[in-house]
Amino acid sequence: MENQIKTIIKAFFPEEKIDGISLLNGRLVVTLKGSEQDSVPPQLKEQLSALDGIKKVSIVFTAKKKPQGLNPQQDEKWVVPGVKKIIAVASGKGGVGKSTTAVNLALALSALGQKTALFDADIYGPSIPTMLGYEGVGALSYDGKTFEPFEYLGIKSMSIGTLIQKDVPLIWRGAKACGAIQQLLTDVNWGEIDIMVIDMPPGTGDIQITLSQKLNLDGSVIVSTPQDIALIDAVKGVNMFRRVHIPILGIVENMSYYICPNCGTRADIFGHAGAQAAAAELGVPFLGEIPLHIDIRTTSDQGTPIVYSAPQSPHSQAYKEIAAKVIAELK
Ligand code: ADP
Repeated sequence: MENQIKTIIKAFFPEEKIDGISLLNGRLVVTLKGSEQDSVPPQLKEQLSALDGIKKVSIVFTAKKKPQGLNPQQDEKWVVPGVKKIIAVASGKGGVGKSTTAVNLALALSALGQKTALFDADIYGPSIPTMLGYEGVGALSYDGKTFEPFEYLGIKSMSIGTLIQKDVPLIWRGAKACGAIQQLLTDVNWGEIDIMVIDMPPGTGDIQITLSQKLNLDGSVIVSTPQDIALIDAVKGVNMFRRVHIPILGIVENMSYYICPNCGTRADIFGHAGAQAAAAELGVPFLGEIPLHIDIRTTSDQGTPIVYSAPQSPHSQAYKEIAAKVIAELK
């Protein structure tokens, strides 16, 4: 009987796929290796059921079917070769200075002796190539399979902007965006990196959550401006990382106060210390405050952010203090 059953199965599946056959009281259970639950031909069941003495046929597979979500390989983590720690710089909404903070934080980490990489995952407005001065330069590949990272201002980097045209609005669905980001992260010869900073897309949607989970982030930094509305968004950011169990290294208050470039007078135009209060309320560290200053914007626009071009300035010192706290928290 068993041979008869095997012959029928072998007409549909190779023999090595058969994991077990059990027949008890007319009940036949065939176990097959794999996970192709959907691909059992109905004829197989029909032919087995037609055998003498068989009342019920079940065909089961040894591996569970993979869930179909945003990314089919839900459980598989992405491996970024050579990178020891990965942190994300995120914000609840756009325009709060997330990318400016990410680039200056990366340069500050590098100034403090960390081998640093910066990855630009901001699919809605990749600005790292402009800020590091490689806008319009194509990514290099020696073997046609892996990319060489860009090496500018002492840090290695890669940007989703190398795949998309500037000023062309990009509407990528989650899986496509994640697939592109995955390739640019994992198929790059990073070399040895102590800390990689990821400039996340703004907001707290599916893409951000998927990235956080796939990358097994070591921590997150949330950037906020002092206005109430931005802080509400920052709270969303904190909650997102909490939901996926990513440690929150702290909140940075950007555009915290205004220093007049002519007279040096300080003005708290958006209010002040809101992020500090929010951090205390949320029970997360407050990492520091960065003023609204024209030099921070112009140096970034020119491709030489302030931490690189004016390392002794008070603004650069502020970024370095934040970087030192990040290093301490990652230990
Ligand atoms: P996000 O990544 O949150 O969208 P960006 O980093 O692109 O924001 O910053 C938005 C704009 O604000 C940019 O023009 C940038 O140069 C400017 N900016 C960011 N932070 C500061 C700051 N502390 N002082 C002055 N300008 C800033």
